[in-house]
Formats: sequence, structure tokens, C-alpha cells
Amino acid sequence: MEKLLISACLLGVSCRYDGKSKPMENIEKLMEKYELIPVCAEIFGGLPTPRVPAEICGEKVITSDGRDVTGEYEKGAAEVLRLGKLFGAKKALLKERSPSCGSGIIHNGKFDGGLVPGFGKTAKLLIAEGFEVFGESQTDKLI
Ligand code: SF4
Repeated sequence: MEKLLISACLLGVSCRYDGKSKPMENIEKLMEKYELIPVCAEIFGGLPTPRVPAEICGEKVITSDGRDVTGEYEKGAAEVLRLGKLFGAKKALLKERSPSCGSGIIHNGKFDGGLVPGFGKTAKLLIAEGFEVFGESQTDKLI
């Protein structure tokens, strides 16, 4: 069965910065077609839950209280990539707008709810390594 990396928060794991999850519909349909590999780059990078929210600012990731957490986000991205390769996955379904998992559109770095074109650290690395990355609004393309 084809392997699919998936943001753990989309499966109902309470790993988001606010200690909550964002469970999606169609999980059972996805499981009929894919072996799901749940990943959370921010946990893999050593960050706690809950944690201070962060946004992409240029090449860095900065928390709302001004701390540079780029290293943690990059470590988490590298771990997700490592697991993706280990399991032979070629695709990933990642939570939209996240500074790790977002692809195409992310928050603007001002913590005002604004959005800009861009990629989270994990999505960017996976795409650079040849993975196909989808957001949860694109799930129909996978099932
Ligand atoms: Fe969800 Fe990805 Fe954020 Fe983890 S890093 S909470 S999987 S969006």
C-alpha cells in the first residue's frame, strides 16, 4: 500500500501550539488507499505542547514573543524527511498555513492573522526533496 506522511494534528493528535488538534474528515477513506505515517515537525524539533505560536519571517521562524526557533523547526523538518525516506513515502498531506506544514500560503510573520504566499519549513524541505505535498483542502486529489 502506498505510504502517506500526514500532519498528526489532522488525525486528531493534540500537538498544535494551543494544545488542540484539527481533525479532518475522510480519514477512513484515506486509510483505505494509504498507509498513514503521522508526523509533527514541531514536536520532533523538541518543542513543548502547548507552545508559544511562531510564524515564518524571511528565512527564520520567530515566536510571538520574539524568540528565534528556526533551529527547532529545521530539526523537526529534517526528522520528518528522514521518516518519509525510511518508509518510502513520496507524498505528504500537511496542515495548511502552519510555519512547519503550510504549503503555498502561510501567516505573514506579523501575528495579525494576515496570510502571504510561502511555505513552512517542513513543506519546503519535502518539496525540495521531491515529495508531492498537499494541504487538507486538497484531500480530494488523494482519494
Ligand atoms: Fe500540526 Fe504540523 Fe503544527 Fe505539528 S507542526 S501541530 S503536525 S501543523
